[in-house]
Amino acid sequence: MSSLQDLYQDIVIDHNSRPRNFRKPQGATRSVEGYNPLCGDRYTLHVQVDGDLVCDIGFEGSGCAISKASTSMMTEAVKGRPKGHAADLFDSFQRMLVRPPGAEFDPDEVGDLEALSGVNEYPARVKCAILSWHTLRAALDGGVDSVTTE
Ligand code: ZN
Repeated sequence: MSSLQDLYQDIVIDHNSRPRNFRKPQGATRSVEGYNPLCGDRYTLHVQVDGDLVCDIGFEGSGCAISKASTSMMTEAVKGRPKGHAADLFDSFQRMLVRPPGAEFDPDEVGDLEALSGVNEYPARVKCAILSWHTLRAALDGGVDSVTTE
């Protein structure tokens, strides 16, 4: 059984009320804005990249609880790790979010992000959860300064 309570797990509520890395790092080398017009989530993601490493990451902006918690957890998951780790995690996270209702996923692949596994039952919320990951990819790949979910 899934319910809104499953969606708003304690860890999601905690990250929403006390977002991690909610700041602009001093040495940020790149900033990209992400916007989800469907919900109104809007964040600017700052990354400091050194070679292949995401040395530091932070974000500013506002949005719903799901988007903020997802962004906060994302920053924790990729900070201090290679870019390739972020790309792999993005793939696993996205697979978890768009899986059919009731389908299994591998929690080992997503770590703490498992807290957002109930989002797959709420298609409108998938964009909230995935927004900052698209923004991160744009920040790491280069090229564009803003992304939207539309
Ligand atoms: Zn949202």
